[in-house]
Amino acid sequence: MALIVEKYGGTSVGDVERINHVADKVATSRESGNDMVVVVSAMSGETNRLLELAREINCEAPARELDVLLSTGEQVTIALLSMALHRRGFDARSYTGGQVHIRTDSVHGRARILDIEDARVRNDLANGRVVVVAGFQGVDEDRNITTLGRGGSDTTAVAMAAALNADECRIYTDVDGVYTADPRIVPEARRLDRITDEEMLELASLGSKILQTRSVEFAGKYRVPLRVLSSFEESPGTLITYEEPSMEQPMISGIAYNKDEAKLTIRGIPDEPGIAYRILGPISEAHVNVDMIVQNVGADGTTDLTFTVHRNDYEKSLDILKKTAVELKARDVGGDNNIAKISVVGVGMRSHAGIATTMFQALANEGINIQMISTSEIKISVVVEDKYLELGVRTLHKAFGLENSDES
Ligand code: ASP
Ligand code: MG
Repeated sequence: MALIVEKYGGTSVGDVERINHVADKVATSRESGNDMVVVVSAMSGETNRLLELAREINCEAPARELDVLLSTGEQVTIALLSMALHRRGFDARSYTGGQVHIRTDSVHGRARILDIEDARVRNDLANGRVVVVAGFQGVDEDRNITTLGRGGSDTTAVAMAAALNADECRIYTDVDGVYTADPRIVPEARRLDRITDEEMLELASLGSKILQTRSVEFAGKYRVPLRVLSSFEESPGTLITYEEPSMEQPMISGIAYNKDEAKLTIRGIPDEPGIAYRILGPISEAHVNVDMIVQNVGADGTTDLTFTVHRNDYEKSLDILKKTAVELKARDVGGDNNIAKISVVGVGMRSHAGIATTMFQALANEGINIQMISTSEIKISVVVEDKYLELGVRTLHKAFGLENSDES
C-alpha cells in the first residue's frame, strides 16, 4: 500500500465534467489500494477573474484582503471534488490550507511554507478517507490567510508529499510531461522520461511554466519522488530524479525560452568601485528583480553596464536608470524590450566541453546576433532580438540532436 499525493491544475478541474473525470482517476488509484491525498487548484481562469474583480473595486487592494479573496478559488474545487468522490462511494474530506494547518510566513501573495501539521490528514487516511486539500494557500502565525504565489498549488502538493513522506507526488497538468522544447515551436520536440531536479529547476526559473519554481526547490530539498503527467491522456509523464546522471546522459536535456524580459543599458560611467551598486541598488529598492547583468572592461576609465528585468518593470526601471545617469554623469541610457532569452540546459554540460561553441556557431549560421550571454554550471542563456525566438529555439534543438529519440 502506497501513499500518493496527486495534484490537479486549473484546466484539469476546469468544469464539472473534468472534475468528474478527476474523481474517476482518484477513485481508480484509491481502489488499487493507495492512500490518497489530492491537492487541487482553482478552476482555470478563476484566480484571474478574482484578481480582476479586486482591481475593479480597488486597484491598490491590500495584500491581506487579496489573499482572502484568491484563496476562495481553491475552496470551491476541494468541495466539488469531495462531493464527486462521495457520489462514487468514497469517504472524502476537503480541507483549506488553514484547516490542515499549512503554516506560512506573513508575506501575502508569495508566502513561504514553514511547516505542515500532518495529524489530521494522517488520521483521515488511517480511517480510509480520501483527503482533498486546497492548493496555493496557508495561514500565518496570526491565522491570516496567505497565498503562495501564482502556480503555488504545485508547492502545496510537493510540501504535503514531503510532510507525509509520500511514495510519489504526481502533478497532473495539461501537458504529458517535460519536453525537450516547447512543442508549439518545435514539432519534433520529445517528452523526456526523466529529468534531474537541477535541470527542472533551471527550466522552471528560465520560464518554462510547467512547475512553480519553488515546488522544484522544495522537491529537491526533501527528495520528493515527483512526476509530471497529463490528466487528459495515459502517459508515464516525466519523472524528476535526484541521482547523478549516467555517462550516457545527453549533453543537453532541453531548450527553454522567455519573452518576458527587457534590456537596459547605461553607458560611459566611471569605472570605479561602487558603480554597480549605485546603479542596481535603486532598481532593487524598487522591488525590481534583475536577471542578467553584463559589464564590460573599461579601457578609457569609463564602462557600460547592461542588465535585464521583467518586461512589466521596464518603464519603471528606465525612469530610475535615467535619474541615476544624471547623478553619475553617464554618457547615455538605452533600453530595448524587443528581446528574447533562449537557454540550453543540461547537467551533461559539466562533463562535456564545447557546448557554448556549438550553440554560438549554430546561431551564427542562421545570422542571429547574440546581444548578451550568461552561464551557470548547467545552462547557457543568450539574449537575441525577439523576432529570432522561434528560429533560435528550432536551430538549437537541431544543433544538439534533441529530436533523436534514442536517449535513456
Ligand atoms: N490558482 C492559483 C493560480 O492560478 C494557484 C495554482 O493554480 O497553482 O496561480
Ligand atoms: Mg500550474
